[in-house]
Amino acid sequence: MSDAFFQPVSGMDLPRFAGVPTFMRLPHVSLDDPRLAEVQIGLIGAPWDGGTTNRPGPRHGPRQLRDLSTMIRAQNGATGVRPFETVNCADLGDVAPNPADLMDSLDRMHRFYARVKEAGIRPLTAGGDHLCSLPILRGIASDGPLGMVHFDSHTDLFDSYFGGTKFTHGTPFRRAVEEGLLDPKKVVQIGIRGTAYDNDDLDFAAATGIRIIRIEEFFARGIPDVMAEAREIVGTGPTYLSYDIDFIDPAFAPGTGTPEVGGPNSFQALQVVRELGGLNIVGADMVEVSPPFDASGGTAFLGVSVMFEILCIMAAQAA
Ligand code: MN
Ligand code: MN
Repeated sequence: MSDAFFQPVSGMDLPRFAGVPTFMRLPHVSLDDPRLAEVQIGLIGAPWDGGTTNRPGPRHGPRQLRDLSTMIRAQNGATGVRPFETVNCADLGDVAPNPADLMDSLDRMHRFYARVKEAGIRPLTAGGDHLCSLPILRGIASDGPLGMVHFDSHTDLFDSYFGGTKFTHGTPFRRAVEEGLLDPKKVVQIGIRGTAYDNDDLDFAAATGIRIIRIEEFFARGIPDVMAEAREIVGTGPTYLSYDIDFIDPAFAPGTGTPEVGGPNSFQALQVVRELGGLNIVGADMVEVSPPFDASGGTAFLGVSVMFEILCIMAAQAA
């Protein structure tokens, strides 16, 4: 059972539009707070988009995701899970990036997540662009390579951009495999689609054993079948869950920098996460929500709704 301190503020006690917006109205516990030792799942903002190659904006994601997360109630409507009652969850605040220095930002995030791992906390991050996943993995994969379930329109497996730049939001998982943070044979990428530059990413996946399930196969087979294969690929080992909001069709999630048409709807966006119950998830992220392209706030609301589904499966595994 979780501690009373770690319960979110209920909309029955304080209207949901009132109060200081932490993630899901949880208490804020900084890395220097003595309460940190009691936290089991930490929700973290990574307000940084220095790896973005096209339309920027995800640096503003954590603040808008916190705001829209006040819409989230304590009980999962589909599964009945009440995550805040089974594990101590807290908002650990934002990792502080250096918006003018990419490599320094990667180091700062790496150090932050190493401290989170050292405290025995499983992080659920709100990005930020997808390059944020690399320093997160550097911080939490220190015991050996992880498996990964990755939802995205893009593989993010390219070698470099602009004639040799190795660190962009199109390269994080190539670097993570090279650095031994991911076991490529336990990586599955789901939802890949759209126009492409070339096959550099697909060739790397084929050479290393990464399983790519393109959107055509995803819809032809159906979600339960595809997700059963995903569960089999990662098995019972420690697994990272990375969720790029552009996995979802831009009709439902237009607020992102690199949208691709022909994707899942918002129901399917939640369903794929529910199908991952029982996995050993050691960390997760929701990235690429870009408030400047999210005039209605609907993309951020969908983003935090997916985060709540992820939190529910992470909490159930700890119970
Ligand atoms: Mn991505
Ligand atoms: Mn993407």
